[in-house]
This record gives sequence, structure tokens and C-alpha cells, in this order.
Amino acid sequence: MFILLRPGCALKDRARILRAIEEAGLAVQVSEGHHRIVIGVVGEEDLLRGVALETFPGVESVIRLRPPYRLAARETHPDESVVAVGPTRIGGGNLAILAGPCAVEEEEQFLAAAQAVKAAGANLLRGGAYKPRTSPYDFRGLGAPGLAILRSVSREVGLPVVTEAMDTRHLDQVAQHADMIQIGTRNMQNYPLLEAAGRARMPVLLKRGRACTVSEWLCAAEYVLDAGNPSVVLCERGLVSFDPAVRNHLDLSCVPLVKRLSHLPIVVDPSHGTGRRDLVPAMARAAVAAGADGVMLEVHPRPEQALSDAQQAILPEELEALVPELRAIQEILRRHPVRIA
Ligand code: PEP
Ligand code: MN
Repeated sequence: MFILLRPGCALKDRARILRAIEEAGLAVQVSEGHHRIVIGVVGEEDLLRGVALETFPGVESVIRLRPPYRLAARETHPDESVVAVGPTRIGGGNLAILAGPCAVEEEEQFLAAAQAVKAAGANLLRGGAYKPRTSPYDFRGLGAPGLAILRSVSREVGLPVVTEAMDTRHLDQVAQHADMIQIGTRNMQNYPLLEAAGRARMPVLLKRGRACTVSEWLCAAEYVLDAGNPSVVLCERGLVSFDPAVRNHLDLSCVPLVKRLSHLPIVVDPSHGTGRRDLVPAMARAAVAAGADGVMLEVHPRPEQALSDAQQAILPEELEALVPELRAIQEILRRHPVRIA
């Protein structure tokens, strides 16, 4: 930690700052320049958590060197984490293809979608039983009966399944029927839900809040990790955009950034990230090229009949064409590993 003092900081104010740091059990190094004085704090800066140094007279700014998340940080965990969801591995050079319809609509639709995505090469099935919708009059999912369909179809096709839990009240139910719990963009900062997911002892797919920074996202992951659950996968799904041409603005630059800051695997959802079926394949390829550990794709056997997110669902045959392209891109990266600076 560095503390920059105001020009002309009184000696008594400086002494007070130094005393507060030393009383917290830390050492100081004072650098006196021609115009300004900087205090370097040596030791574990967490010891100063309860000391609001910014409020001390004479302090201009405080630069903290440790990120506000710990367990999610690469510096505390240099090796990349690999998250197991049934037989599927996310991270560590494996390519995860999470695919399926936006929502479980009825058994026949979900089974057809699941069989199609499995045949196309997906290794994790997706589908929502509890759907967060902007308008309450839109299809909000089948709820508990949807979870039962999800479980039976997942068993029938032999793919692990991820589905969203919107509420702590549904978490146990979701955990019993799925192999991975999804926390949606709207709930990324629902701290009781994150803590409950942390206690659930099952992998968590944590979507990035639609207007959240990478640091806030990693802090949200920290809640799950801190509650005792090490199996967190991050999912970039686009940020609010000023441009109505796309539903969201897909932030692919966060992929190498997250890789640098964290050991957690990261996947990208270009379906919600663009909201446009025609843009999904290109952004999926770009995501893998950027170093993502996988992609999440909405696939529907009859998009024109989909009850939610019809405009962004790709067809099973589009997934089938895309999967070998994604694997080819990943193979290039394997042969020419990308440096995480
Ligand atoms: C979803 O994946 O179905 C979903 C609702 O995603 P998001 O939370 O990213 O909008
Ligand atoms: Mn959707």
C-alpha cells in the first residue's frame, strides 16, 4: 500500500498517519521527494482494513496493492483451476461447449434439443426452468416440473446439465436436479444467493452482471469461494449497450484480463452477448481465440417457436458446423500457447 500525502501536510498529521500504521503492526518507508511525500506500507495491508486512512488529515490518496478478492486471485492460486461437472472438465485446456435452449418448454422440445446438441458435440446441456424475464407477462419457465424434465432428459442423453437458480428458496431443488447451478446476470450481486450457492457444494456458473466491472464480478465469485465452494466458472454474457443493433455488448477483452487476474475458468455466452443468431458463430470463434475455456450457446430445434430468446437461438446444424471450428481454433492455441502477461 502507498499513501500519497497532500502538499504541505503538517508534521503532526504525518506523525498521526505513521502512528496508525505502526499501531496496526506494519512498518513504514517514507519517501520524501522534492514536492511530495509518499508513505510505503510494508506488510499485510489487510491489517489496516478497519483504518480509514483516506479520512486522515493530510492524506491525498491511498493505493491498495491487493485486490478486494483473495481466493479468486491468481496471485494466491497460480495454477489454473479445473472445474468438473460430471464427466466434463472446464478449464485446463479442455473446451467446454454448454448448449441447449434458453428454456425448458416441454419434454419433447427439450429432449429434441438435448439430443441435437449432444450429436453436435456439446459436452454440457443447458436449459432454464426458472427464467428471469424483464416483463412478468413473458414466459417465466416451468419451475419445478421443468427441473424434473431437465433431470430425466439429461440422464437420457448422457450429458450433465446446468440451470439457473434465481432464488435461495429454489437452490436445493435446483441442486438436486442439475449438475451445475447457474447464477444469472441479474443476480450476480445477490449476496445471499451467492453464499447459498457456496454452501451447495456443486459447481457454479457465475454470469457477469450486465453492468458490473471485472473486479465486482471476481468479488461475487469470492462469495461462493469463501463459503467453501471452490468450483466456480465465470461466464461473460455481454454488458448493457447504448447501441440497439445488439442486445448486449460482448466484452471479449475480459477473457485475457480475467485469465491474468484469476485462476478461475471462464466461458463466453455469445447468445445473450449479442442477442442475434447471425452474430453468434463469429463471436463464439472469437471467444475461443481470446482464450475462453468454453462457450455457452442457445440452440433450439425450432427457434421460430421458442418461448424465450428466439432471435438468438442457433439451429442444431449451425452448432454442428461450429463445434469443429472451435476445436480447430483451440488446437492452434494449444500448439501456440498464449502468454498470460
Ligand atoms: C440464460 O442463460 O438463460 C440467462 C437468462 O442468461 P443471463 O442471466 O446472462 O441473461
Ligand atoms: Mn436466454
